[in-house]
Amino acid sequence: MANIQNTKDMLIKARKEGYAVPAFNIHNLETIQTVVEAAVEMKSPVILAATPGTMNYAGRAYVQAIAEVAAKENDIPIALHLDHHETLESIEESLELGTKSVMIDGSHSTFDENIELTKKVVEAAHANGATVEAELGRLVGQEDDMIVEVGDAIYTDPDTVEEFVERTGVDSLAVAIGTGHGVYESKPNLDFDRLEKIKNLVDIPIVLHGASGIAKEDVQKCISLGCAKVNVSTELKIPFSNALRNHMIEHPDETDPRKYFGPAKDAMKKAAIEKILICMSDGKA
Ligand SMILES: [Zn+2]
Repeated sequence: MANIQNTKDMLIKARKEGYAVPAFNIHNLETIQTVVEAAVEMKSPVILAATPGTMNYAGRAYVQAIAEVAAKENDIPIALHLDHHETLESIEESLELGTKSVMIDGSHSTFDENIELTKKVVEAAHANGATVEAELGRLVGQEDDMIVEVGDAIYTDPDTVEEFVERTGVDSLAVAIGTGHGVYESKPNLDFDRLEKIKNLVDIPIVLHGASGIAKEDVQKCISLGCAKVNVSTELKIPFSNALRNHMIEHPDETDPRKYFGPAKDAMKKAAIEKILICMSDGKA
């Protein structure tokens, strides 16, 4: 019933009201349907996050079209968001297709190069009514093919935040405060003081990446400290894959995708609902 949205109003409202919009990484028709079903059931706004790897796998135009159908058929705010895109060119491809929310990840460059690239993306995106998330600092772990070792991870320096936001004009900011991408090998130490400092410096919504495996209390503390978007990928992929694997083991002769994806979708939906409750976005659609 609605068009696909950018994430501006969605995230400003969330930061103001003290909850977060969950951003779920999706990969295909089934995973988009699943997280949207969970969000509809919980009356939660939802962000469908697609990495460059997903776009290579499923095709930008296909992902865009499926997300648009999801937005039209459901009465909740739905955004399609480009997750961890690293080039202006790839973002422009999606802007032309109608994408309204993008992340430019210039965190692997120097501070000035990050600003320069982010600024270009902001100009292109805003000209198309799209919003931009940038990243300052660098998260440990693996996202798509990008691997950051522990020694190369950098916490966001609060002293650079104001300058970065001002010079780039970004709409939201991903920060590195101790979370990582993928599965945690030991309990991560989150730097809440750092987050609080950042929150007090800028009024744009802050984005928490690597929320899979972070305890509910810690995620909610981050939300109370300005995180208005919480990214979840691993914690949805694992139940989907486990359910699919178990189903195949129990039904070794199964050949019908319409049957074997069912339990995988159910397991993923359950995990998505749990995350919506942690984000406290239920009833906020
Ligand atoms: Zn991320």
